[in-house]
Formats: sequence, structure tokens, C-alpha cells
Amino acid sequence: MSGLTDLGVKAIRDGVAAGEFSAVEVAEAFNANVAAASALNAFIVATPEAALDAARATDARRAKGEALGAMGGVPIGMKDLFATKGVQTSAASHILEHFKPEYESTVSQKLWDAGAGMLGKLNLDQFAMGSSNETSYFGNVINPWRKSDSNAALAPGGSSGGSSAAVSARLCPAATGTDTGGSIRQPAAFTGISGIKPTYGRCSRWGIVAFASSLDQAGPMARDVTDCAIMLEAMVGFDPKDSTSLQMPVPQWEAGLSPNLKGKRVGVPREYRMDGMDEDVAKSWDQGIAWLKDAGAEIVDISLPHTRYALPAYYIVAPAEASSNLARYDGVRYGLRDLPEGAGLQDMYAATRAAGFGAEVKRRILIGTYVLSAGFYDAYYTQAQKVRTLISLDFKNAFESCDVILAPTAPTAAFALGENTEDPLAMYLNDVFAVPASLAGLPAMSVPAGLNRDGLPLGLQIIGNMFDEQGVLNAGLALEQAAGFSARPEKWW
Ligand code: GLN
Repeated sequence: MSGLTDLGVKAIRDGVAAGEFSAVEVAEAFNANVAAASALNAFIVATPEAALDAARATDARRAKGEALGAMGGVPIGMKDLFATKGVQTSAASHILEHFKPEYESTVSQKLWDAGAGMLGKLNLDQFAMGSSNETSYFGNVINPWRKSDSNAALAPGGSSGGSSAAVSARLCPAATGTDTGGSIRQPAAFTGISGIKPTYGRCSRWGIVAFASSLDQAGPMARDVTDCAIMLEAMVGFDPKDSTSLQMPVPQWEAGLSPNLKGKRVGVPREYRMDGMDEDVAKSWDQGIAWLKDAGAEIVDISLPHTRYALPAYYIVAPAEASSNLARYDGVRYGLRDLPEGAGLQDMYAATRAAGFGAEVKRRILIGTYVLSAGFYDAYYTQAQKVRTLISLDFKNAFESCDVILAPTAPTAAFALGENTEDPLAMYLNDVFAVPASLAGLPAMSVPAGLNRDGLPLGLQIIGNMFDEQGVLNAGLALEQAAGFSARPEKWW
């Protein structure tokens, strides 16, 4: 039943519950797509048996007349940053290659408890550092999309590029992502799918390999807004094992979905309209504004004056936290150990870290230790923290006059593999529209808005106030309905 892989989360959940098809049939269909798509390199590890086991459990529950759970019968891809018990959790690094955790991350456990099954572990930028998936130790993912006039391989975005490629290519109906500074939203935009990063603290960080702890948030990536709402609801909730976990009830986002924006004010931040902005990106933003107006919203011009300092502040705060978080990989406790002949303890640390981390990870560790060093701490780290506060205040002020904010997700559509690898600053610029919401801990979503002149998808971003995922999802739904985005990559893999 190959048509099953065209179905999303809601359609699968409801179809299994109604007995239109079995969860095992669904798992088999997606397992087959995963096995046939090695050219995309989206999965680091495939776990077809895990998907089938979960599906059998769902079918058995249905046979007994038991409730199936919010994700009952839905097989998903798991970004390889989530610890999965007994299954390699590598963060796409050499240093954690072969690391099999003894425990399950809170978010993945919640998804299994809701009836989902695991198709495999998805490729990503190493330790989630990157915007193109090219920093993975296991080779880059290839975007299933191609330009209309070229077969050149494109980046699927990053760091959740395995997730974005897999959902877009119908290898899974949905996948987990994590977003530290755009890693759910930018890859979603590059592949024509939807993804939401919730308010900081909604999803437990327990069992997710840490990058920058004050920014890291998990979230769903799926084909549409409704599927994101369903999956997000299954992922969030208070967890005493995460000291920054929000102690709040889980809202019923799926039930609250409505594309009617009457009475809502949509802010359009003037500082996001940058000089030399890509023409198609600017056009799609204008189109989005018109769509939300049609959905009943009032459009208001807003100012986020510190926007241009967000990227520099992010690239101080994130590496600083990363340098501290990654200190634990020392060859003693996890993964790789490089113990040269006659080496002492220090030599072992150095050799292990030299061999185990990729170039981008080393760059971040070096930047991070530099900005935290005694002589430079105040000049860089303290300043960046102050800027971060100013950015949060910008949003606080803006939300006095609007309910949600509309902006592009990324400055361009998917770029070619290799295009930005020589120039880390050009790569970092990809995050320019994504990092402000991350620094402020706000919920933000990307939804597909159309195709550019080359036939590649473009995303629009909705940023919401603290805890207002519902407002974000509803504006996303309004955009989705107006855009009627149904394009999909032509199958070549
Ligand atoms: N591209 C950004 C970075 O490299 C964001 C990564 C992320 O959100 N994990 O840091």
C-alpha cells in the first residue's frame, strides 16, 4: 500500500483508529521507503524492527478495544540527538559513534508512550552545529528538492536536515527536530515542510545531547500545521529531570486550531527587511502579509531595533555554552577513546578530542572558551548577555501592539552543497531571521509559502509571544490554507 506514505500524522492516526489500515501496514510502507532512499543519507541508523514492534503493539491494543494514544500507529524519524535506549545516539559525531545510551530521552519516551514508533535515527549537523548538514561525520544529507533547471545537489538545511529531508521525501510522516538557533525552522523552509520550536522550557531537554542549554528546544517537523500541533502536544510537559522545564499544563493545541484571525494583530518587523534581500523572499513575505490580512488580521508595522545584534550575540552565547557542554567528551565516560602508546591522561583527552570532533565543533569550542576566558569574558560574553536581554525587551515591547509576528524563515531558498562551506560567516548568516526568537525563548514556526523562481520552496515564519503556541499555530494554519502548498519533490533517489 504505497499510498500510505503520502499520509500525514493525523490521517494515519485516524485511519488506524478507524481500522482503515493497520499500524503494521503503515510501518512496513515507511520502512520500505527508508530502505529505498539511502541516496539521501537522511538516516544514520534505520530501526525497522522498532517501528514494527510499536505498530504491532498499537494493532493489538486496537484489537482489544483500548485507546491508541495521540500518535497511535504513527511511525516517526528521531533526530540522532535524542538519547534512545540501546540504539546508537551519535549526534552525528565520531566521538559518540557507537554510543548506545542506557536511557531514553524524555521527549522520545513521551512519543513512544503516545503510540508512535521509531523508523530510525536521523542525520544532522554534528552536535547540531550548522545550517546545511555538511558538518555531519556521517556525510551530508541531500535535499530531495532540486532546482527546476539543474540536478545539482542542494543542502536540506541544518541542523535538522535529516529530519527535513526524510519528511519531505515521504520516508516518515513526521520527525523530531531541535532548534537552538533555527535548526527546526530553516530546514523546514528548505524542504517545503512545517516545523515549530515551542517556548523555551516546554519540551524537556533531558536526554537530548546538549549544544547550548539556554537555547536548545525540541519540536516537531511534519507536513502540515495540524500534524505539528498533534505531535507537539505529545512531546511537551513538565519534567523534574530538566531544571528549566516549564511547570505548566499542556494546552490542547490540536483542538484549538482555527485559521480565523479576526481580531488578531500581525506585526511586521521593519528591521527584518534588509538591504539586498532576495527578491523572491521579499515577495513571499508580502504575499504572506496579504494572506493574513485576508484571514481577518490587522497588520501592524513594528520595530525590533536590536535585530542586527542578534546574530553576533548568538554566536557568542551558543559557542560559550557549547564549549562547556562538550567538555564532558573526554574519552573516559562516553564513546571514542584515543589512547596513544605510552600516553598519559592529558594526552588521552587531547587525542580523543582531536580525533573525535569535527572542524566546526572545534571552531565553536575555541570561540566559546575564548569568550569565556578571564581576559575577554566582560568584553564578549557579558556584552552578549546584555544584548540578549535587549532583544527580549524588543519582543516584549512589540507584543504590546501585536499578537504574532510574520517574517521570512531564511534569507534564501536551499543553497547548493559546498556553496557556503568555505565561508563560515556566510553560513552563519542563514540564521539571521531565526536566532532572535531563539535568544528570547519564544515559540516560532515555519510553514511552506510557495516556490521561488527556481522551483524551490520558501518558508514563512510566525513568531509568537511566550507560551502562545496556539497563536503561532493558528496563524500558521491561516498561511497554510491560503498558500495551498501542494508541491513536492520529484522522486530521483
Ligand atoms: N545554524 C545554527 C548554528 O549553527 C543553529 C543550529 C541549531 O539551531 N541547532 O548554530
